[in-house]
Amino acid sequence: MIDLHTHSTVSDGSDPPERICEMAATAGCSAVALTDHDSLAGIPRAAEAAKATGLRLVPGCEVSCKAPTSPSSGPVAGSVHVLVYFVEDPESPLGRELAVLRADRAERNRKLAARLNELGVAVDCDTLAAEAGGWEGLGRPHFARALVRAGAASDFDDAFKLWLAEGRPAYVPKARVTISEIAALAGASGGVAVLAHPMSLGLEPGPLERLVATLAESGLAGLEAIYGRYRPEERKRLCEIAARTGLAVTGGSDYHGSFKPDLEVGTGLGDLAVPDEVLDALAARRPSL
Ligand code: AMP
Ligand code: ZN
Ligand code: FE
Ligand code: FE
Repeated sequence: MIDLHTHSTVSDGSDPPERICEMAATAGCSAVALTDHDSLAGIPRAAEAAKATGLRLVPGCEVSCKAPTSPSSGPVAGSVHVLVYFVEDPESPLGRELAVLRADRAERNRKLAARLNELGVAVDCDTLAAEAGGWEGLGRPHFARALVRAGAASDFDDAFKLWLAEGRPAYVPKARVTISEIAALAGASGGVAVLAHPMSLGLEPGPLERLVATLAESGLAGLEAIYGRYRPEERKRLCEIAARTGLAVTGGSDYHGSFKPDLEVGTGLGDLAVPDEVLDALAARRPSL
C-alpha cells in the first residue's frame, strides 16, 4: 500500500519530514508522498530518510485554488485544494509559483494575526510564527490550536466554526491561482495535478462529475477518490467519476500529526489501503519534457 497525502512541520503537520517516512515504513507502505502546503522544502529531508528504509518518496505539495465554477450550480463555495506530484525542483515553473504563494500565505497570516488582535483575542501570533519557522510556515490549524489554548474556542473544529472558516470574523482569503493554472505549471515542471478531497467542493454527484469533466479537459490528471476520511460508498462513487472522466484515481490519509489526531500515515482512520498500482498509473500520466 501507499499514502499520497501527508503534511509535515514544513507546513501544518506536527511531525518532521523524516518522521513521516518512518511512520509510512512502519505502517507497511511501499511509497509515501510528502504534500506540504505551498512548499517543497521538506522533500530532500524526506527523500534522505526514505532511502534508509527502502521506501519510495514521491515529491509533492498541496495548493489552495480559486473556487472553480460548476457547470450547473455556478461558483463552488467550499475549499479547493490541488495536489501536485513528481515536482521537486524549487526553480521549476511550479516551484517559482510556490514561492509567490508562500509570500501570499505569510501576508495572509499577518493579516489574520492583526484581525485576531483587533477582535481582542489573546493569541501571541509572533510566538506562533517563530515556532513554525516563520510566517510562511503557518497554517490555519496553528491558529486554531492557539485559539483553543487561549480559551477562545472549545476545540479545533470549533475554532474554525467560530473564527477561521470562510465567512467567519478572522477569515482572510488567500487563493490566487486557478486549478488549470496549477495543472499547467505542474505539467511544465514534469508533474501532474490532482483534485484533493473532492467532497470538500460540497457538490452533489451530478454537478461534481460535470465540474470534474471540465477540469479534466483543462489539464487535471487525477481525483483523490481514496481519501482517508471518506466512507467506502463515497470512495466508490469518486472512483466511478474518475473512470468516466478519464482521470487517474489517487489516495492518501491527509495526515497532519497532532493537528488531526484521528488520522494515521498509511491507514488514515484505520481502514485506508491505497493500492501500489495507483502510483504507477499516476506516474504514467507525467508529461515528457
Ligand atoms: P490554510 O492553508 O492555512 O488556509 O489552512 C488549510 C488547513 O486548514 C487544511 O489542512 C484544512 O484541513 C484545515 N481546515 C480548513 N477548513 C477547516 C475546517 N472548517 N475545519 C477544520 N479544519 C479546516
Ligand atoms: Zn494542511
Ligand atoms: Fe487539503
Ligand atoms: Fe492536505
